[in-house]
Amino acid sequence: MTLFDSPAFEGHEGVHAFSDKKTGLKAIIAVHSTARGPAAGGCRMWPYASAELALEDALRLSRAMSYKNAMADLELGGGKAVIIGDSRTQKSPALFEAFGRAVDAVGGRYWTAEDVGVSPADLMHARKQTRYVAGLTGHPAASGDPSPVTAEGVFRGIQLCVRRAYNRELDGVTVAIQGVGHVGAYLADKLHAAGAKLVVTDVSEEALREVAERTGAKVVAPGAIFDVEAEVFAPCALGGAVSAETLPRLQGKVIAGGANNQLADPAIGRAVFERGILYAPDYVINGGGIINVASELRARQTGGAYDAAWVETKLSRLMETLDEVLERSASENRPTHEIAGAIAEARINAARDAKAEQRKAA
Ligand code: NAD
Repeated sequence: MTLFDSPAFEGHEGVHAFSDKKTGLKAIIAVHSTARGPAAGGCRMWPYASAELALEDALRLSRAMSYKNAMADLELGGGKAVIIGDSRTQKSPALFEAFGRAVDAVGGRYWTAEDVGVSPADLMHARKQTRYVAGLTGHPAASGDPSPVTAEGVFRGIQLCVRRAYNRELDGVTVAIQGVGHVGAYLADKLHAAGAKLVVTDVSEEALREVAERTGAKVVAPGAIFDVEAEVFAPCALGGAVSAETLPRLQGKVIAGGANNQLADPAIGRAVFERGILYAPDYVINGGGIINVASELRARQTGGAYDAAWVETKLSRLMETLDEVLERSASENRPTHEIAGAIAEARINAARDAKAEQRKAA
């Protein structure tokens, strides 16, 4: 299949491929949209089995960033970078400097940040070659770990869903959390403080022990989390938690968590809806993290500092958008992920049309 036949390429403004013999860099930067502002999205380092698989991932992830940034009402478009390689054995300062040069070559249409396999320390090397890097540490604009803000958004989103599905507050409600890493652990603390009962799982014994000690959560094996009697299932581990295999096992009426790509495939979103389960679209409820990163980008562009009040305003607005998605899903009798997709596309298209009008007028 050529690039132009790939359904994932559709709608992309551009795809840039880079290779650097000296450092071994093989990277793809996909820019889905700059209609709302410069494309922003992290850089993932992964040992893809082929360049085609790396390309597919970059395209899928860059589109998802456009949608996430639009739903968070950020003046940012969507893009993503992937580096083909094993992050445990193939990293070097020179490789990330070469990646920095690649980012710079895109001329500010793409801002990078960390993602799977890439750390702030790696980005410091990229920063030597380009200014278009967010997620660094040690300067006034630095936004730090995004997980607490992500978890706060997920917590408020669960509150909204439980009010709609059960007409009650969180006190006494049982939440099953899959994955108590950065986001899941902060979320567990917030839910515990609100009086929710917790059932948690993780593949890391250490992460589980700490959370269970702090919150009194009941611990179950990873495979058993889908069968827990809980009003809410909160996926906070990796993607694909909601599948044809797991959906029939869920006991509650709400799916709301921090993980990306929770639906194993788009068709399962309709099955979730038809089972009467309220699903908070992942890229809406987990948008707190990108809002936090956007605050850094904004401060870097203006020479200002990280602004916690701006982050809170955006997070509150995001929760209003989530509520709008849930409301429209009920009134239009359509799955939430379809409603969210339609809102995101309308926002991106409106920005693109406004830009085209401006160009015509100039
Ligand atoms: P993390 O790596 O800190 O935590 C993930 C946890 O899931 C780990 O403790 C891991 O051991 C556990 N896990 C992995 N496989 C599992 C399995 N099969 N069953 C149970 N537990 C399993 O990552 P994180 O930063 O907390 O992110 C969690 C999810 O949220 C990811 O999907 C990420 O893409 C998404 N997300 C994170 C942020 C953020 O601000 N960190 C923002 C948006 C979305």
